Amino acid sequence: MDAWRKEFISVLSLLFAAFVIGSVTDTLFPALFWMTLFLLICQFRQIRRFEKWICAGGKGQYPKTSGIWEEIFYHIYRIKKSDKRRKKKLRKLIEQFRQSTEALPDAAVVLRSNDEIDWANKTARQVLGLQQADKGQRIINFVRFPDFIRYLKSGNYSEPAIIPSPLNNRITLEVRIICYGSGLRLLLAQDVTQLKKMQTMRKDFVANVSHELRTPLTVLKGYLETLQDMDDDASPLLTNSFKEMLGQTERMQHLVDDLLLLTRLETQQKKTQCIDVPALLSQICKEGDTMENASRRIELTLETSAHLYGEEQDLRSAFTNLLGNALKYSPDDSVVKVRWYQNKEEIILDVEDFGEGIAVSEIPRITERFYRVENKRRNKIPGTGLGLAIVKHVLMRHDANLKITSELGKGSCFSCHFPVRRNCCN
Ligand code: ADP
Repeated sequence: MDAWRKEFISVLSLLFAAFVIGSVTDTLFPALFWMTLFLLICQFRQIRRFEKWICAGGKGQYPKTSGIWEEIFYHIYRIKKSDKRRKKKLRKLIEQFRQSTEALPDAAVVLRSNDEIDWANKTARQVLGLQQADKGQRIINFVRFPDFIRYLKSGNYSEPAIIPSPLNNRITLEVRIICYGSGLRLLLAQDVTQLKKMQTMRKDFVANVSHELRTPLTVLKGYLETLQDMDDDASPLLTNSFKEMLGQTERMQHLVDDLLLLTRLETQQKKTQCIDVPALLSQICKEGDTMENASRRIELTLETSAHLYGEEQDLRSAFTNLLGNALKYSPDDSVVKVRWYQNKEEIILDVEDFGEGIAVSEIPRITERFYRVENKRRNKIPGTGLGLAIVKHVLMRHDANLKITSELGKGSCFSCHFPVRRNCCN
């Protein structure tokens, strides 16, 4: 503001001087004309210097000048200087980011919208076989596994994909894609070879132990049944012991069977067929009706005739577990409702009981292996804690999910949600 005033005053002073000299010498108009011309030439000179300086990139100190032009030069010089500082800071930040991503133990690749590689870190070059020169190439030219291509194209990256390394098929990679910015994606690949090996060892161990326990348990149960038959009730202690031993042996047999089923679900290939679910449910409910204290408690409603692509044996296990739980964890005189219905997106099975219900804090845990809710009365109810883990696995294999709603003292509803694309008949 000050500079403007000074400039204004100096122009006015020069014009006034020209006016005075012109008036005294009787050459008012020529004097004003020459003074205006002089001022114009001065401004043109300044503009020329400014243009020259800016054309040269505004580098270094600005030319020596005065008045408002000095202010203009100074402001631009200041903006350029702070811009330079910001750029330097940004460059340093990018460099630090690159260095940290280079040092990452996981492979990181930035992909553009058309799957082209924008940038890859050192680990990506090592495990995915990418080179610096591959920038701009499509990732599917380097990672050609159908599972990976399907995952990349699916657009649904909520779950990771497991693939072998393109350079060494003994290395297993867990690939995740994260979308960010406009159309950019970050691909992260982690070496999970050891983890997978340990998981396989655990599965094999559980499967082998469960398998080996089967025969001794059958023999034990056979002998216990014979001894129970031979028991003449002479000693109540002996009678009770036989009963308890037989009960525990049966419990162990259930445990072994459930563990073997879980192992099979984790390891076996899927063999799908079209399953008549309404018929399956009718059969399961009939079987449930014959269970102890379960007669006429089940109310089956079949609102859709939808069939499902899936594995019959597995679905039977899952549905039987849900129905068994509903019967087990509700009073002997209460109703258990089983409903098979469909909406636009899903085909749903509800198994609803009016029992004790489950506390909200327990709901996320009850599908964990061996988890049983602590409760004095419930602890007397036989169970392995594996039923809902089996249900969860079976549903996962059918692209379905389990939703649990429950209220203490009122009851629970276990819903299996299948996507409609699984429907193979209406
Ligand atoms: P379990 O063999 O103990 O029944 P599950 O995995 O089937 O094992 O169930 C885990 C736990 O979840 C059970 O111990 C029980 O506490 C709780 N639960 C399952 N279903 C119900 C239900 N319908 N009502 C109340 N609690 C239930």
